[in-house]
Amino acid sequence: MLEDKNPQKTSLAELGEFGLINHITQYFNINQASSVKGIGDDAAVLDASEKQTLVTTDLLIEGVHFDLSYMPLKHLGYKAVMVNLSDVYAMNGTAEQITVSIAVSNRFPFEAIEELYAGIQLACDTYKVDLVGGDTTSSTKGILISVTAIGKANKEDIVYRNGAKETDLIVVSGDIGAAYLGLQVLEREKQVFQVDPNNQPDLDNYTYLIERQLKPEARKDVSGLLKELEVKPTSMIDVSDGISSELFHICTQSKVGCKIYEDKLPLDPQVISTCEEFELDSTMVALSGGEDYELLFTVPIADFDKIKGNPNFSIIGHITEENQGLNLVTRANQEIELKAQGWNSLKEQ
Ligand code: ADP
Ligand code: MG
Repeated sequence: MLEDKNPQKTSLAELGEFGLINHITQYFNINQASSVKGIGDDAAVLDASEKQTLVTTDLLIEGVHFDLSYMPLKHLGYKAVMVNLSDVYAMNGTAEQITVSIAVSNRFPFEAIEELYAGIQLACDTYKVDLVGGDTTSSTKGILISVTAIGKANKEDIVYRNGAKETDLIVVSGDIGAAYLGLQVLEREKQVFQVDPNNQPDLDNYTYLIERQLKPEARKDVSGLLKELEVKPTSMIDVSDGISSELFHICTQSKVGCKIYEDKLPLDPQVISTCEEFELDSTMVALSGGEDYELLFTVPIADFDKIKGNPNFSIIGHITEENQGLNLVTRANQEIELKAQGWNSLKEQ
């Protein structure tokens, strides 16, 4: 995992806005040919080319979307970029630039912002995207971070949410439910820590879950994997709120229904063991957990042989007629209606 150590403290007031911007942006390089001008002028200049442009934004607020007591700032920076790149990849596009806007209160020393940007830079280097601009301002309380990602795709390659057809297979990359459980583990440790700060938690059984929560990776590779298999999804979405919600979006926009199978949901062994320990239903966690940043997509049934057995993908069900609704077939072979609930509603239970 990433480290987070800040022995020094420099006040933001001392540095000033321009000093801060200069300091945090000095280590960023431009790598994409389409980034004509990055940071330093009134606006960035991007080469539009003949492709179509994808633009997506997410706003993350302390206390609402993250808790700094267990989310190191370097991880926060990394994750803030990931959630945006994930949206570009969910359109079957290539992410090329990001902008980052932050509002911070004086409670944060400069070194904290440096940590945040170290995470952003790691994400930029790993995913080959350029930081080309942003805005910096103060907040009265806490920290707020907004990232915009800009990407490209050939018109004919873009995959929307509205193209799923009856009989299409429903496929998900990787495994699901781990990020939500990682959050549960971190929240439990926070409570334990508040009671006894000397208690050293043993998190060995949860490393994968915590990694998935604190350092998610956007699925940049899926587009290429599908191209190699000569499969073009008919619809696609990234898993930010949980499979149930994402299926709801795909089915509503495509005007179809779906049937997914409980025994087909890809779960990591740590998800299964931790669900037992927390007395949570693993199916519920997989469906409503969220923050997995995997890709959920549909493919024509004719592509079954190309996807079947591929270690990157699981076929979890198929698309049905709209009037059949959204259904889960349980291990006991019972059909129950899927509820579109994001991880927030799961939390309230
Ligand atoms: P302006 O007054 O024109 O908005 P700024 O002084 O806010 O310009 O920003 C100067 C340059 O630094 C611009 O290129 C802007 O995009 C960039 N920038 C400002 N804040 C950030 C930030 N937090 N992260 C990355 N780039 C930033
Ligand atoms: Mg500005």
